Amino acid sequence: MTRTSRLWHPNTQMSEWSGFAKIVRARGMHLIDSDGNRMIDGVASMWCNVWGHSRPELVRAMREQAARLQHSPVFNLTHGPAERLADELVRLSPGMHRTFFSDNGSSAMEIAIKIAIQYWHNAGAKQKTRIASLKKGYHGDTFGAMSAGYIPGFFSRFKRQLFDVVQVPTPDVYHWPGSVTESECAKLCLDAAQETLEKDEKIGALIMESGAQVAGGVIIYPESFQKRLGNICRRHGVLLVLDEVATGFGRLGAMVQYRAQKNAPDIVAYGKMLTGGYLTLAATLTTKKVYESFLGSYDQNRHLFHGHTYTANPIASAVAVENLEMYRRHGLIKKIQKTSKMLGGYADAFRELDAVGDVRHKGMLMGIELVSDRRTRKPVSSKKSINKTIFEIGRKNGVYLRTLGNVVMIVPPLAISEGHLRQLVLRTRRTIEEAGF
Ligand SMILES: *Cc1c(COP(=O)(O)O)cnc(C)c1O
Repeated sequence: MTRTSRLWHPNTQMSEWSGFAKIVRARGMHLIDSDGNRMIDGVASMWCNVWGHSRPELVRAMREQAARLQHSPVFNLTHGPAERLADELVRLSPGMHRTFFSDNGSSAMEIAIKIAIQYWHNAGAKQKTRIASLKKGYHGDTFGAMSAGYIPGFFSRFKRQLFDVVQVPTPDVYHWPGSVTESECAKLCLDAAQETLEKDEKIGALIMESGAQVAGGVIIYPESFQKRLGNICRRHGVLLVLDEVATGFGRLGAMVQYRAQKNAPDIVAYGKMLTGGYLTLAATLTTKKVYESFLGSYDQNRHLFHGHTYTANPIASAVAVENLEMYRRHGLIKKIQKTSKMLGGYADAFRELDAVGDVRHKGMLMGIELVSDRRTRKPVSSKKSINKTIFEIGRKNGVYLRTLGNVVMIVPPLAISEGHLRQLVLRTRRTIEEAGF
């Protein structure tokens, strides 16, 4: 532990912490602190690490690019890494035609929202300015993203400043009042969405995470839910905007999650794993139809009014290009499909624990919900944050964990070996047991 510095930590009650473990380096699956303690990175350094830390190919890609060109904008100019990456992302993403870069997932979603609104403006349907989204969805911490992904526990203080979003229910089977099957729950949600879109002609876009809601507590969509919701959007002339910031690039077991969902968005956003977890970069992609609505003569003002200083940074783009090549070279998605089965196989080992109410798993993502009463599903309570309790015991057990409220997350680097995954799971299980909720 080091004395607290002037650093203000994110989403943290600072008075709860007298100091923080200081990470001085990281190798493979391990974070190593200033006392030499090693922790398995159980949350892939906020869900973004793919290959583990200090991977030589990625470090080399960054070093080589850094020596040649560190930053040069794509305002009036272009450069190789950004062009290669833009093309590669379009190639990977069925139906997509253009890539717009930003430097974090929240911005990628802000851009998605702006594109959707301006699309309707350009198309002459200026009244279609309203956004719909799924309850419990999360799209980032900036104002547009908070509006679209409104989680009251996180954002209620800012509610007055957020723009109005129409929310439709999410198929959260575990927390549904009364008991429903997955398919009944999906049907109820789809019927509600259908009714909402039918009633409100001002809705221009529906925004949702692709495949599962992660920050909302690991809520995995029932089979065909996303596809059917996409069909409802299409029938009502509403753009479908997918957020794959957390769930794309293999996290749920497929390179492009919407492809696995047999779903066709108009706009999609990527982030987190794009650079293998090494630098900050995000992308927003659109179809040809959406892109072409922005074309016209200059004085028509149809072009996209958006740009960031570090848009398409060359070093970040170069490491992303290398990362995507590595997915191919190492057949990562195939490997994940195998490791994912192993992770799923551990669900019962968590369910045995009294404090565990539910375990949800897909791909390389697992959420373990801690409850004080299995029947009422009431969350465990503690005076300290649950996160801090679990983090501290985890640290002692050699694993880095960060919970989401009462949900313990297992979000390992995607390329984790079966041996390390077993260690991660067993240490996490022991940590929950020792927390004694
Ligand atoms: C993390 C996340 C974001 C925000 O990305 P940042 O890079 O943290 O701004 C947006 N959407 C989803 C689904 C996320 O998980």
